[in-house]
Amino acid sequence: MKSGVQPGKQVGGLRCRPIQQEYGQRIVGVRRCSFHRPVRPQDLNGVPILSRYPHPSSIQGPPLPEFRVGHGYDLHRLEPLPPKGKGQPLILGGIPVVSDTGPIGHSDGDALLHALTDAILGAIGSPDIGQLFPDNAPENAGRDSADFLAEALKRARKQGWLFCNCDCTIILERPKLSPVKEEIRANLAQLLDQPDTTRINLKGKTHEKVDAVGEGRAIEVHAVVMLAKGLS
Ligand SMILES: [Zn+2]
Repeated sequence: MKSGVQPGKQVGGLRCRPIQQEYGQRIVGVRRCSFHRPVRPQDLNGVPILSRYPHPSSIQGPPLPEFRVGHGYDLHRLEPLPPKGKGQPLILGGIPVVSDTGPIGHSDGDALLHALTDAILGAIGSPDIGQLFPDNAPENAGRDSADFLAEALKRARKQGWLFCNCDCTIILERPKLSPVKEEIRANLAQLLDQPDTTRINLKGKTHEKVDAVGEGRAIEVHAVVMLAKGLS
């Protein structure tokens, strides 16, 4: 609502109306008229007087939705597959990817699911993936990383958080991910229980032949997740 100042009008012993401050459809407070006599507390019916801009703590009515952002990062060393090296088959987002190199890892080495899991855990203030699933625990050897993601989702839901979207960047020199990108995206949507695949974004990049990732000796993944609570 625009300024409700009505000079000269007598309202409850005041020369002007308190100015109602709105947030969307909701009246969140009353601003003191700066031109006329100050608003008396008894005329406010408990609605707080706001400074120039409403402070969130002064907002009245039902609580506004809350949002959380989490960032996850993972890196795995890559080696040729046996017998030339000790690389495990390359799996990204739960999808096997044809490659002559694969990750070294305690679990199945799925760097995308690890980063995504850590992003969710980070958003809810939980211990990270390494704390929840230590890489020296026998039960995690060769383990399907979808288990880690499921645990992170379970913890988020238990706290009342809903998944909004994720944006993931895989940095890998080879192989090219474009042939499997949509398959990975669809699988992530399924693992995250999201029918709307636009909420799941996946980007593939190289490291321009620079450093370990660029020389094909490592894979890196960044994942950003948004969660929400209190949506009506
Ligand atoms: Zn990992």
